[in-house]
Amino acid sequence: MIRVTIWNEYVHERNEEKISKVYPNGIHGCIAEFLGKNDDIEVKVATLDMPEHGLSDEVLDHTDVLIWWGHMAHHMVEDAVVEKVKTRVLQGMGFIGLHSAHHSKIMRALLGTTLNLRWRDGDRERVWCINPAHPIAEGLPDYFEIEQEEMYGEQFDIPTPDDVIFLGWFAGGEVMRSGCTFTRGRGKMFYFQPGHEEFPIYYQAEVQKVITNAVRWAKPVNRTNEPLRCVDVPPRPEQLRLDK
Ligand code: ZN
Repeated sequence: MIRVTIWNEYVHERNEEKISKVYPNGIHGCIAEFLGKNDDIEVKVATLDMPEHGLSDEVLDHTDVLIWWGHMAHHMVEDAVVEKVKTRVLQGMGFIGLHSAHHSKIMRALLGTTLNLRWRDGDRERVWCINPAHPIAEGLPDYFEIEQEEMYGEQFDIPTPDDVIFLGWFAGGEVMRSGCTFTRGRGKMFYFQPGHEEFPIYYQAEVQKVITNAVRWAKPVNRTNEPLRCVDVPPRPEQLRLDK
């Protein structure tokens, strides 16, 4: 069983009627619903307003993959929680950052760059799968369309990814590395650009398939609860002999 915690700041949906109509149970509620239909995935949710933002040690001890959606309240996430999540990723917990999570404290801490990009309200996106052999692309078509999406375009200030799985093209002409993977310590990370809160993007079958595949891909292979150490290795006897 893959234990997934879906974290959402859950601010837009409670303050803007237009967005609460799209996601009456929050973006996290929508993601929990489609992920929870899989027999191999167990979901729980966490939000900004919970104690420790819902990410206590107890919760993180039982999380294989953490999904993150945030936008207007990045600055309200406690640094201590960010540090704790970062440590967990380095120890092997999978991490999936969605849409405006690109500017979250945790993604910036893990990747070390600004994650700035070009953006514009309202556009149509064609998401091209450019790495069909990757597990996150399993079952996806050559491309799919998102009728209404916020444009996020290059240059996207990220370190060079391990893999780029999806390339977004926008009707305005911009392109974007829309689905990228990274490795940090023992942890696998996936960033997926679609998911602007005003549009029902997380209800779309292809988007749900990508996130479901990403959960299965990002689950820990070799998790440890210890920090990765710098190990002092004494010389072997044969090395000593060579030195003489
Ligand atoms: Zn957005």
